[in-house]
Amino acid sequence: MTDGTRVLVLNAGSSSVKYQLIDMVDGSRPAAGLVERIGEADGRLVHTAADGTKRERAEVFADHPAALGAVAGELAADGLGLDSPRLAAIGHRVVHGGQRFTAPTLVTDEVVAEIRRLIPVAPLHNPANITGIEVARTLRPDLPQVAVFDTAFHTTLPEAAARYAIDRKTADEHRVRRYGFHGTSHQYVSRAAARLLGRDPAEVNVIVLHLGNGASASAVAGGVCVETSMGLTPLEGLVMGTRSGDVDPGLVFHLHRVGGLTVDEIDDLLNRRSGLLGLCGDNDMREVLRRAGEGDEEARLAFDAYVHRLRKYVGAYYAVLGRVDVVAFTAGVGENAAPVREAACAGLEALGIAVDPELNSVRSGAARLISPGYARVAVAVVPTDEELEIAQQAFALVHGRN
Ligand code: ADP
Repeated sequence: MTDGTRVLVLNAGSSSVKYQLIDMVDGSRPAAGLVERIGEADGRLVHTAADGTKRERAEVFADHPAALGAVAGELAADGLGLDSPRLAAIGHRVVHGGQRFTAPTLVTDEVVAEIRRLIPVAPLHNPANITGIEVARTLRPDLPQVAVFDTAFHTTLPEAAARYAIDRKTADEHRVRRYGFHGTSHQYVSRAAARLLGRDPAEVNVIVLHLGNGASASAVAGGVCVETSMGLTPLEGLVMGTRSGDVDPGLVFHLHRVGGLTVDEIDDLLNRRSGLLGLCGDNDMREVLRRAGEGDEEARLAFDAYVHRLRKYVGAYYAVLGRVDVVAFTAGVGENAAPVREAACAGLEALGIAVDPELNSVRSGAARLISPGYARVAVAVVPTDEELEIAQQAFALVHGRN
């Protein structure tokens, strides 16, 4: 137990570290920042202080310990060092918690070992997350460290939704099942959407559309996630910036046997050269919208394919839930791209889903409704805040409120 009121949230990626210091009592964010291109010649650290001023350092951060050491230095320079008694915990984003981690978890040696055992199902993410945890534990061994898992919110998926229809023994031997990702965001946004309606999340059914570079949908019934579009890996589901989302798995054999591509080449194709990028050469929705607006046909097709898939999922998740109270758009595209929201809901009036063009065109950083008053289903824009969700979960855990 600690008297501190602040949580440092760390999100250690393969070549980057994002951090935010959040005060759980007054809601302030005394510091935030990002270290990019760790291990490369052109590393960069951008630190944002409480008053919004930014400090930038361009230097080589050889590895994660060096990057996290630099973060600790920046915090200390603002009088917010890791030795501060005001710090209650460090909250770590961990991508894959498998079936074991269904809730935020206090980090122990055994927990680190278990996250390590999950590396085969999250080879790109879990190693960096573990390094972040290990370095933070070295810097402040006495401080509670809490792992918050991207998969945890989806561990409630019914078995019928979590299973692929493949041989059970093979699936179990290789831990093949639908895990889902972006869970922290889906959890935060589904609750915030219910609150926007002035209702208890336990009574509300929500379809969350998290549309960032990666994109996923989820169906949340009374606060419990019952379906999500990403699966064993974050490749399944929606059309994304560079990822294909759903394809016929037979496409992999075809490209290998007939096209002569290796497995690694197909992996690269589907994860890094597909989606919007594959269809039109741009992965940023802003660019796709600009080009489509100028009559560029490739960009138009990319946009159409993106929203077609979205609409399909909204319809499917409507069927999964039986009753939908609110469709919530979030993340970079969901929060900012009015044409995507409009097109994703177009033609769904029979389901009670409609978007008011005027409300939809309002630019705002606040959670807001964009559906007309008469619609049976609310449509909302809800800015996600994964850092706040991680901080809240970590803080609640160290204060025994979980
Ligand atoms: P990440 O998945 O990296 O967290 P974000 O949620 O920040 O991503 O979303 C990033 C994406 O949001 C960008 O690639 C861009 O396509 C999209 N985006 C950001 N601002 C806008 C905007 N004004 N209009 C359309 N798309 C936008």
